[in-house]
Order: sequence, then structure tokens, then C-alpha cells
Amino acid sequence: MAAVKYISREKLPEWLKALAAERRLLVPVEEGGAVVFRAYDPAKAPVFGSDATAPPKGSVFPASKELFSYTYGKEGEDAKPTLTLDPKTTAEPTVVFGSKPCGARGFLIFDRVYMGKKFPDPYYIAAREATVFVTMACDTVENTCFCHWVGSGPADPAGSDLLLTPVAGGWLVEAVSAKGEPLLASPALTDGAAKAAEAEEVKAKTRAALGEAPDISTSKEALLARFDDMDFWRDQSDKCISCGACTYLCPTCYCFSITDEGSGMSGKRLRSWDACMHFQFTLEASGHNPRPTKAHRLKNRVGHKFSYYPTLHDGLIACCGCGRCVKSCPVSVDIREIVQNAVAKAKA
Ligand code: SF4
Ligand code: SF4
Repeated sequence: MAAVKYISREKLPEWLKALAAERRLLVPVEEGGAVVFRAYDPAKAPVFGSDATAPPKGSVFPASKELFSYTYGKEGEDAKPTLTLDPKTTAEPTVVFGSKPCGARGFLIFDRVYMGKKFPDPYYIAAREATVFVTMACDTVENTCFCHWVGSGPADPAGSDLLLTPVAGGWLVEAVSAKGEPLLASPALTDGAAKAAEAEEVKAKTRAALGEAPDISTSKEALLARFDDMDFWRDQSDKCISCGACTYLCPTCYCFSITDEGSGMSGKRLRSWDACMHFQFTLEASGHNPRPTKAHRLKNRVGHKFSYYPTLHDGLIACCGCGRCVKSCPVSVDIREIVQNAVAKAKA
């Protein structure tokens, strides 16, 4: 049986300091009115109670990442040009501490894309392998949470290496993966067996607070059936202002763009997050755009998450139900309503 430990609130800073001494430690902190993951600073208290505004996506897949630097050389008019590449594949050992389960689960969706056999991505793989996720199960829910609709839940360990569950005075600490186990050796942790039953009660109570999930098991077919129904998509996207916030804050959105920065004979190639809700995302050099309206773009975003991706990946829904896109959308576009509307329309 995997080790079960306990960490008290008083001892938590000791554990965090020890972790930060050995590697990069990212924790959720308040910054500019939002909660975001930043390097641990003992002088700044982490925010562990509620879900972070932005998920820990950038810990493994940074918003902008240098892939390699390059230098061209040419000695003389007739000489053959040379090209030197310096790939930046090494990743810093990291612990992401205090994400909610939905934030860590997002990486399952990334893994199938960037760690697949066909096109393994060395940058992603190095960062994923160098990162340990110490996740905190939820003991409260918000009205935007719907993790239980998509095969997850408030204590889902998928994508995590350790799972902490809030109990009186601290947290029960459970090992989820072999990668997480060495972190349990800290003297700040004590045996947690006596707290295990209380943690199970917290998990059950939080799951019950979410209530019953509606049946969206036909979302794959229902959304595909609406593929050419642009009236439906115009209705759903009416309020959207194409700001892209939903994609940037989404733990499962993995699209990127490539740019080169440099001058003269040298420079660097960058990979940066891109957003399918933006007009430019599919704009072709000819001026043609296969997704010219926000209705086309929202169709792609929702269809990809609840239909096309699950079709390609054994039914796995490319949404972890975190509700960030619902909570942060300036005009309250609600992905839950859209999926349910498509499911209802298919039944009508
Ligand atoms: S956050 Fe809302 S308004 Fe902005 S692109 Fe997404 S759906 Fe549209
Ligand atoms: S689509 Fe919305 S609810 Fe689903 S994972 Fe992305 S941000 Fe969270």
C-alpha cells in the first residue's frame, strides 16, 4: 500500500522551504488581483484555499519558450553557408505545489499530444519528466465547477504525483506515483494513517456537493451533428468578443505559434501559446480564413474538446471541467450550456 502521511499547517512552511532548496518550487500566490503560480517566496503566503485563476499549465508548457538559438555563418562569396543550432531541451527540476486536481489533470490531455509515439516533443517531455505535481484535493466547490461531468472529480489524482486532502489542522498526504514518493521523506511529515478516514469523508462530502452530472455521453455525436448548423453556432457565440481569455486560461488548450527573433546572422526560435478563438489563428497567407467568424471559432473550440479529441483519444474529453473559461469570460459564455444545447438538439 502506498505511504500515507500527514502535514500540519504549522509544518507546511518547513516542507516548502526544504522543497525550494532543492529545485524550482511553484505555488499559487496573489498577483494583480489574480491567483497565479510563481516561484515560492517564504515572505509571501501561498493561496491554497481556492482554485488559481490561471492553471499551472506554464510550468511545463511556458507561454513563451525558446526552442533553440541559431547562428548562420558564411566565409567568402563562394563558401557554403553554415548553420549552428543550440537546442534548449533541458528542463529545470520543478515541484508544482497546491494546484487543484483539474489543473494537474489538464496534462493528461497534453500528454497524448506531445508524448505520443508519432510526434514526441522533446521540450515537453523533458519538462513533464522534470516536474512533480503536489495537488490539493478540493473541500469546497464553486458554481462554475463541473469536473464530475467529464470523468474527473474534486479528489481526482490523475496527472498528480502526490495528493493532499484537507483535514483538521492540516492535510493527509498520499503518494500517487513513484515520482512523488521521495517527497514524503521530509521530517516535516508524520504518519497519516489516523487521518485517512477523515480524508475519505472530506472527499465524499465535496463530491456530493457537486450534485448529479447531466448525461453528456453523446456529446461526440451531438456536436458532430451540428457541424454544418451555423445558425446554432451563431446563437451560441452571439455574446463572444473573441478576447481569447478562455483559451489562455484553459489547462487543456495546447496550441502554439512559432516565431523567430533575431538580427543579423543569429537569433532564436520561440514557441508561444496561440488561441483558436482569435481571427488570426487560421488566417492563411492568401488572405483566406477557413474560420472567418466567431461562430466558426467557437464551434472548433467546443467541438475539439467534446467531440474531435475524444474521437481520436479513446473517449478522453479534452476538458477537465475546471470552469475557468466560464468564470473568466467577460460576457459569460458557458461551455456547459453549449454542450448541453447540442446534446438536447440531437435528441429533439
Ligand atoms: S473568453 Fe468568452 S468572450 Fe473571450 S473568446 Fe472566450 S468565449 Fe469569447
Ligand atoms: S474548456 Fe473551460 S472548463 Fe474545460 S478545461 Fe478548459 S477552461 Fe476548464
